[in-house]
Amino acid sequence: MISLDTSIAELVLANRILAKEDVLDGFGHVSMRAPDDPNTYLLSRARAPELVEAKDIIRFTLDSVPVEATKERPYSERVLHGEIYKARPDVVAVCHHHAPTVLPFCISGTPLRPVMHLGSVIGDPVPMWDSRDEFGDTNLLVSKPEEGQSLARALGNSFVVLMRRHGATVAGRTLREVVFRCIYLAANARVQSAAAQLGAYETLSAGEIALAAEFNLQPHAVDRSWDRWVMRATSRG
Ligand code: MN
Repeated sequence: MISLDTSIAELVLANRILAKEDVLDGFGHVSMRAPDDPNTYLLSRARAPELVEAKDIIRFTLDSVPVEATKERPYSERVLHGEIYKARPDVVAVCHHHAPTVLPFCISGTPLRPVMHLGSVIGDPVPMWDSRDEFGDTNLLVSKPEEGQSLARALGNSFVVLMRRHGATVAGRTLREVVFRCIYLAANARVQSAAAQLGAYETLSAGEIALAAEFNLQPHAVDRSWDRWVMRATSRG
């Protein structure tokens, strides 16, 4: 088991990386299940992800209540993290974002599909959640437990769920895996949109998705990308 301090340091890096790679902007957030207590998770206070530091990380119960009283403001949408951790014991990290390349697929009727080998990690089909179906008009934020539970149901056994008119929520079996999946979700969306402008395009077959996802999610592939993203997120200038 990796230590709590190491986990927090990696979570800070995940925040910086996902901001640098245009998955997160001033909004969106990434969390991980605490290594020393799987019934709690770690998430920054409400802060722009590229500014997150270790001291900003708060431990929450799976009901998304801070374990220790804090004066800091938490993210309004933290319940989606807690409810996914409750529903999915295999999930160790969650990211919610509004990546600009993904949003067209949350608005148009065009399904987001894996169209390139690294895009295999998003799975197929990618489920879509619409807050209107159960909750009618809302401010679009997933801020009530029942909204988080509804989103977790839509995620099902997948690792990506799109949120109509809003963004996406991505899960992973490790923190590095969720970062990898978020970045290649955004890349696959960009490539699919570009290919669609050229005309007809093909998607990966079910067999290709399974084989490529298994290969791409091996630690040697994920860690190779992680090292590069750390360099990009932490180098000056
Ligand atoms: Mn949001």
